[in-house]
Amino acid sequence: MMFLLLCLFIGASVGVLTPRRYDNDKVFRILPKTEKEVEFIKYLDNKMQLDFFKPASSHQVIPNNPADFHTSAEESEIIMKFLEKKGIKFDILSENLQETIERQFQVVEEKNNRSGRIFRYQPWEKIATWAFSVALRNPKLVSMMEIGKTYEGRPIILLKVGKQKACKKGIILECGIHAREWISPAFCQWFVNEAVKTYGKDKNMTRLLDRVTFHVIPVFNIDGYVWSWTQDRLWRKNRKPNGECIGTDLNRNFNISWNKFEKDEDPCMQAYAGTGPESEVETQAFSTYIRKNLDSIKAHISFHSYGQMLLYPYGHAEENIPNHEIVEKLAVSALEALSGLFGTKYIHGSISKIIGLVSGSSIDWSYEEGIKYSFGFELRDGKIYNFLLPESLIKPTCQETMLAVKVIANHVLKLET
Ligand SMILES: [Zn+2]
Repeated sequence: MMFLLLCLFIGASVGVLTPRRYDNDKVFRILPKTEKEVEFIKYLDNKMQLDFFKPASSHQVIPNNPADFHTSAEESEIIMKFLEKKGIKFDILSENLQETIERQFQVVEEKNNRSGRIFRYQPWEKIATWAFSVALRNPKLVSMMEIGKTYEGRPIILLKVGKQKACKKGIILECGIHAREWISPAFCQWFVNEAVKTYGKDKNMTRLLDRVTFHVIPVFNIDGYVWSWTQDRLWRKNRKPNGECIGTDLNRNFNISWNKFEKDEDPCMQAYAGTGPESEVETQAFSTYIRKNLDSIKAHISFHSYGQMLLYPYGHAEENIPNHEIVEKLAVSALEALSGLFGTKYIHGSISKIIGLVSGSSIDWSYEEGIKYSFGFELRDGKIYNFLLPESLIKPTCQETMLAVKVIANHVLKLET
């Protein structure tokens, strides 16, 4: 029976295809200084269809903000010549992207890890099994539910973590909306494991779990995540076909100024916003769940990588949110806690100020629905590994992030309503 249930939860299997390889592909970091240089980057993207890592599309490139993109080895020669000719500063972050991909799994033994456990990224099958097992083993603290199904029919799992009492405040932890950002689901798993391990031992965690329910979605975009494990490590979107290309960026699909700025109407683009607001079943499942629980949910934290940033709304407008001052202070306190552990440097601010105008994002949407503490973490790293953070860095990344999340949760705990 258990086996059957697990099979159902793990969901559709993938046909046999050869996974995409990135041998000798390069990752560029450019720093355009002027509007004219930005215009040239957009022109280049138009001509050569650059694969933007950060920001997600050339529409969001602005002067004096670094932008990263990936190209094939052949194209990189031409691009380098163009950039040199135009005097645009650039670095090559990865000389061989395939090697960077493989380096993720080269685990360095951790001397101080007393349990001897090595932290690894988990494919969806393992995360689904883990979710079952953590709920089974901790019935008083964790319960599991399905909030909807993905396009390919996989159940979207949500773990409710905390003492089961009525009238508790809630915090949503949303991981894995972008498939290739593997450190994000790793953090949601870390959070749940730490919560059950330290309840009754760590004063703060015990207090939090007694009074707050954490609604944890370990992987939002499961179909994309499975694809990133089996076929294309750098897949970002979901897997619903849209004409000649596949996938919608779920973090552009929410019903908040939908498709207003990016003009990502090309289904082949990484930040394609979909055919309409909430056109995707994954977005619908999440939005419906939040709407049903709006009375209790006080904070929403969305986990992404990379760039080491703590972001808050708005992304769809340049003005400050009404409670900007208090949210800004909270971000500063959260980052003080985070950097206190290993000295990791983060920047913070509104999405529009830090990465430019973005429409249809999950945290902008939840903020407008009434959740006044909506944050987006862009986890490690800043420069070398991009989406391909080695497994040896999972533990420190999760440890420091946990401290920041606790600061936000403690703030929620103190709220009167
Ligand atoms: Zn992301």
